[in-house]
Amino acid sequence: MKPELREKYSRQILFSGIGEAGQQRLLDSSAVLVGCGALGTVVADLLVRAGLGHLRVIDRDFVEPSNLQRQTLFNESDARDSLPKAIAAERHLRSINSTVVIEGLVADLTPANAPKLLGGFPLILDGTDNFETRLLLNDAAVSLGVPWIYAAAVGSYGVTMTVRPGETACLACLLESGSDPVGDNGNGRSSQFEETCDTAGVLNAAVGVVSSIEAAEAIKLLTGNFEALGDRLVSGDVWSGKFQSIRVAKNPGCRACARREFSYLSGDAQPHITMCGRDSVQIHERNRRLDLPALSARLSASAAEIRNNDFLLRFRVPPYDLTVFADGRAIIKGTRDPAVARSLYARFISP
Ligand SMILES: [Zn+2]
Repeated sequence: MKPELREKYSRQILFSGIGEAGQQRLLDSSAVLVGCGALGTVVADLLVRAGLGHLRVIDRDFVEPSNLQRQTLFNESDARDSLPKAIAAERHLRSINSTVVIEGLVADLTPANAPKLLGGFPLILDGTDNFETRLLLNDAAVSLGVPWIYAAAVGSYGVTMTVRPGETACLACLLESGSDPVGDNGNGRSSQFEETCDTAGVLNAAVGVVSSIEAAEAIKLLTGNFEALGDRLVSGDVWSGKFQSIRVAKNPGCRACARREFSYLSGDAQPHITMCGRDSVQIHERNRRLDLPALSARLSASAAEIRNNDFLLRFRVPPYDLTVFADGRAIIKGTRDPAVARSLYARFISP
């Protein structure tokens, strides 16, 4: 190892679980992070500072003022410029550690693009905010035989579990077996899983605890410290101060890791229109790239407050707020009704 790297990572090398050999393994390793919001920004920050070799960050959204309370990589100027989170994260992470290869991709992970976007990485990190995408990550990871780390936080509570295909239970074992140890509400998922940050809010400290555990698990996996992995579902509540860890049994009949039926990856379960936050709908029309400058010119007669940057175009059609990305995706705020969103999309974006 070069002397400047030995000095840079000296406090981590001194830690007996890592040492110089572990640090070198980390420098030679890579990971792909899906979702760069609350959990994702903290995990990315910790792993880039720790000296991961290469990090790919995939995110579909842009930075807004309400993100700054907990999404620690972003600042007010990112929100003012409505920068895509993947782009803002890439810029900030590069300024934190220029020796790490950072790749920010503005994209929505779908069954169609998951194998290409996730393939080739030895570890997949969950920074998402919904179970459809997590079950897609689980299908992709189990089918590729690659570990992934599930993490979620809502309110004052957070939960995380490392999935090692062939070794541990997977997320489908946990969610689809009907024996959810966290508190089943009858449909295989606990009520804690059903709540989101948009309905129940979230404390940044809950995010910090869970994403720190996620980052530690990632470092153990990437440095080959498998014996240190807990292989448990760890959850904690920073308000009540209660923490617990539970061993999750593999389900011998599991759809994903036993029967290898990857229904989320084959696209059976994922619609083109998805709910996205409290009052938003995302429309994802595949293979339809948009010419944003041409769209901006066309909209000038019919829409208000048209703003754009190199990555997206925003405009208002009161009471709705529309954001369009070059890949054809649109996030429509002000409705939860897919029919309204589809009609706005057809009328203003892709007539
Ligand atoms: Zn399973």
